[in-house]
Amino acid sequence: MILRRLQLQTSWGNLRLVGGSRAGESTLILLPQLHLALDPGRIHRALPPMRTVVLSHGHLDHLGGLGHWASQRYLNSMPPADLIVPEPIEMEIRSLLATFARLEGGQPYQVTVIPATDGARHQLRRDMELAFFATDHWVPTLGTRIIWHKRRLRPELGHLTEAEIADQRRAGVEVTEEVTSEILTYCADSGPRLFETRPELFAAEVVLVECSFFKPADRDRAVRYGHTHLADLQAHIETFRCRHLVLLHASRRHRLREVEAILDSEVRPFFSGELHHLNVDWE
Ligand SMILES: [Zn+2]
Ligand SMILES: [Zn+2]
Repeated sequence: MILRRLQLQTSWGNLRLVGGSRAGESTLILLPQLHLALDPGRIHRALPPMRTVVLSHGHLDHLGGLGHWASQRYLNSMPPADLIVPEPIEMEIRSLLATFARLEGGQPYQVTVIPATDGARHQLRRDMELAFFATDHWVPTLGTRIIWHKRRLRPELGHLTEAEIADQRRAGVEVTEEVTSEILTYCADSGPRLFETRPELFAAEVVLVECSFFKPADRDRAVRYGHTHLADLQAHIETFRCRHLVLLHASRRHRLREVEAILDSEVRPFFSGELHHLNVDWE
């Protein structure tokens, strides 16, 4: 099964995104450098190595690979892993994993289920945090931000030599300061209300946003099921102050080639950054 691979230039470095997405079928997004999956929507051999999985919501197109991930990690004696889920579905997910483990006749999987709500944070690694926000979908859904904390020399000390900086440090002066960068925002399944209520989300360096529907006749359907329509994206294109805009979750009403042609003619000319997508034709 072919996943799309993107290499995106960010202030952190070249961020690799691997994934595939189609509304109602599967959405699977992997950041292998961070051992992180944002939605385990499909069984794929690239999924089990991910140490942290964030499940945005309980729709099957976003959790189809969850049992496989937990099971493969257990069978291959991989270290314990974290699974972050929206708090309202925590119990269902715990019982789902317990059922899978029982069906397999083994011990409970080595997975820590961590409930999250709007505003919660999770330390992904020493210098990176995940922050969660509620999206505009019709079941409880969490989007994810990746925030990078780095230390840099305080700008007012930039004129000093290394020896002088070392002297300052020895004298007890704090020579560095923390800088925070919003590396990525993943909006999961969401209608367009976020574009107005949370515009700061779309200023991250990389923004992954769904665009499920394209035909004018599908506008009502998008509204009813909490999804984004091409017309919503076009109406809010100024909100996207990101360097990389990654679209996903296209409905199966269009072949992949049609989706690409629509994005090329209807979005690309109006967006000043780099436009990408993770839509695939699943076999
Ligand atoms: Zn979906
Ligand atoms: Zn959904």
